[in-house]
This record gives sequence, structure tokens and C-alpha cells, in this order.
Amino acid sequence: MDTETVWRTSLEKVRPEIPEYMFASMIVPLQMLSLDNGTCTVGAPNSFTKDIVASRYAALLSEAVSDVLGRAATVVVTVVESADAPGADYASADSPRRDTGDGPGLIDPGNSGAQKRYTFENFVVGDSNKFAYHAALMVGEFPGQKFNPLFIYGGTGLGKTHLLLAIKDYAEKTPNIKVKYVQTSSFIDEFIATLTQKRDKASFDQKYINNKIVLFDDVQALSSTDATQDKFFDLFNLLYASNSHIVLSSDRPPSEIPRLSDRIRSRFEGGLRVDIMPPDLETRLAILKMKAHADGVEVPDDALRFIASKVKDNIRSLEGLLNRVVASAVLYRTRIDLEMVQDVLKDQVAETALSRVPPVELIQNTVSDYYKILNAELVGKSRSRPLVHARQVAMYLCREMTDATLISIGGRFGGRDHTTVLHSCRKVEGLIKTKRDTFEEVTELTNMINRSL
Ligand code: ADP
Ligand code: MG
Repeated sequence: MDTETVWRTSLEKVRPEIPEYMFASMIVPLQMLSLDNGTCTVGAPNSFTKDIVASRYAALLSEAVSDVLGRAATVVVTVVESADAPGADYASADSPRRDTGDGPGLIDPGNSGAQKRYTFENFVVGDSNKFAYHAALMVGEFPGQKFNPLFIYGGTGLGKTHLLLAIKDYAEKTPNIKVKYVQTSSFIDEFIATLTQKRDKASFDQKYINNKIVLFDDVQALSSTDATQDKFFDLFNLLYASNSHIVLSSDRPPSEIPRLSDRIRSRFEGGLRVDIMPPDLETRLAILKMKAHADGVEVPDDALRFIASKVKDNIRSLEGLLNRVVASAVLYRTRIDLEMVQDVLKDQVAETALSRVPPVELIQNTVSDYYKILNAELVGKSRSRPLVHARQVAMYLCREMTDATLISIGGRFGGRDHTTVLHSCRKVEGLIKTKRDTFEEVTELTNMINRSL
């Protein structure tokens, strides 16, 4: 048996033991270099792959090669310079697909409310996000070792929170590893509460220290609060000194966060900074495919391509369009094909570099007019049913159509808490899928808003 065949056969043996996305991104790029005296040397395209394979899969691979050869063999991994351009070795865009086992073609609206899991496995890797993905995976695998802090930045809806939660999900599989995830705005709120309510400060710190990884999402929120910057700085230093891995996400690079103290900025710039760019068409397509599959719906390629052409720089909006198509298919009991998708999305303005995001006021005015209520009522305190409904729809549209964060939307609706906004969005998402009236209201409102731009 030639070495090539030995290697291929061994790979087939280990394949079922390794998660598909890891197999595609870490194992497939390996080459068998030599096999002598029971030592099987394989080449990895970079040290990142080498480290992961050596720590996780070398034993498994050794066992498989031994099995195939019929005598003991040990797999040793080294780095080989690859002739390909950097990045050529990354997982192909559609490899990390999760097999949910759902039969295709069946649309089950009851399924759609299920909480989405944010994992590396269901994160589609493309050119736009591969550096962020690999850096995040590295932290999940080897917390506290390289790239501390890791700073991930990129526009809204491009997967920052997804990656942070994937680190948590992944790292927590290792026994005794504790991971803390926090929205920076909640961190600030909580800290202010400890000051004003004279709560125990030590127990505040305790929630953060003693974690191997601490993930601060949306650290641009620090810009508005001078007092908490000092607190954050101290905590950062404490964590760093105790070798906790600190991961930060932001909608912009550290240099562009306004009113950030120089000392915090230089901490943010001290480790590795990676950006996430808007995804290219193929990546958008792969994301839609994975989502359709997870939702248990079958959507032909040309229809997916049409949806992918409508949104370029926000994956949340992209998913929103697919949701709209699926909702319509469920409500009207139609098959999803290109014609149907074109019809459902006919008034969806294709995003271009020039396309405009509607201002929150425009959404509020349109919604108030539509439901024949006053703007003051829309953002006011009344809990009367029609007002609550209009308010929830308006918040949902702000979330879907603008870049505004939950916090800022809450602010624009009479200073409501971001959890209220999130609740409203979830509520309306659910209604769209189950109530034809709401579906039609939201479709009509979206079109009205788009036409006013
Ligand atoms: P951000 O935090 O950058 O605003 P999120 O992490 O909330 O963005 O992502 C928005 C939505 O897009 C989420 O539902 C997320 O799962 C999805 N998403 C983003 N990037 C990817 C990706 N590469 N693969 C699959 N889903 C993605
Ligand atoms: Mg986020």
C-alpha cells in the first residue's frame, strides 16, 4: 500500500469521530509527508492547524494509521510552507454545515421559535470572516495563550456576537473551564447599580475573575461613560494579570471609538485585532442554505441566490428575508421557488452602496400613521392592546431595517430597556409566522418605509 492510500484510508476511519467542520478545516488540508519506522509525519499548512491537530487529533490519527498498517505508528505534525496564498487552506464556505436530521421539504412553523445555538459549527466561514473565525477558535481551544486580548470588530449583523458565544460554547466543553459572556452595556448598568445601591463590590469583580475567558460584547458602549472606563480598566488589568483570555467585540476599531481613554485604547490594541467584512455572494448563499436546512425547508438554489442578492452587508437582515419567505410559504401554503420568492420580496429594495437606512423617526411616523395613533402614544407608557401591538411592530421594524442597537431603540421608545425591545422583536417574529394579519401589516409597512426613502 502506498503512503497516499494509507493516509486516505486512515482519514476515512477518523472522519466519523471528528466534527464535520473541524474535519474540513483542520484534517483535510494535512498532507502525509513520510512514513518510516512507525513515524508518520504529516504537514499542516500553518502553525494554527498544526497546534489544533497535535493537541486534539494526533492520538486519533495515530490509532487509525496503526490500524491501517497493522502495526504501531505515531503521527507527528509539522508545518509545511504551502505554495498557496495565505488563506487558501481555510474551510470552504459551505463545509461547516450542521446536519439536523430534519427531513427537507417539510415546513414546520412550530420549530421556528426554537432558540438558535451559536456555535462554530453553524458559523459559515468565508473570506470575509475567516481570520476572525480562526482567531476565535484559537481562543476557544487554547485560552490564555496567544492573542490576548482578541479584539473583533465589524459592522452590525456580521457575526460578532455569534463568534463570542461560539467561543463560550466550545471552551465550556473542556471540564473546569469557566467562561463569562457579557454585553458591555449590561456590565456598565450592573456596575452603576453596585455603586448606587451600595452592593458588594467584591462580589461584582468575582463574577469576572476566576473565569478562564471573559467575553465583552459591543465594547463601543464604553464610550459614553467616563466613570465606568476606570472600573473597566482595573478589571481588564486584573483579568490580564491572572492570565484570563479577554475577548472584545466592537462595531468599529479601537481608534474610532469616541471618548475612549488612551490607556484603554492601547490595551485594546495590545493583542490581536481582526475585522469581519460584509460577506461575498457565495458566503451569503452558504449562510442561507445552512439556515434553510436548519429550518427544515427546501429552497431551490436560484431562489436562494435571489434572496442573497438583496442584502449585502448585514447577515441578520439576510436571515430576516428568508424568514419572511418561509413565513409566507407557511401562511399561504405555497411551495418556495424563484417566482414565489420574487413575488414575496418584490418591493424589497436591493441594497446598494447608495441604499439608505431609514431613520428611526421615519419608521415611527409610518407606523403611527398606519395604525392611526399619535407618535406620543407609540412611544408612551399606555399598555392598551392596540398601542402595545403598534409599538412592538415599530420596534421590530427598527431592528430589522436599521443598524440601531437594542439599547438605542429602547431609548427612542420612551427609554425602554433593551430586553423589552428584544422581547418585542421576538413577539413580532412569532406573530409574523402565525398570523396572516401581522404578516401583511409588516410587509406593507416595510414597503411603505422603503418607498419613502
Ligand atoms: P453582530 O453581533 O455582529 O451584530 P450577530 O452575531 O448577532 O452579529 O449575527 C447576526 C445574525 O447573523 C445571527 O443570527 C448570526 O447567527 C448570523 N450570522 C452572522 N455571521 C454568520 C455566519 N458566518 N454564518 C452563519 N450565521 C451567521
Ligand atoms: Mg452583536
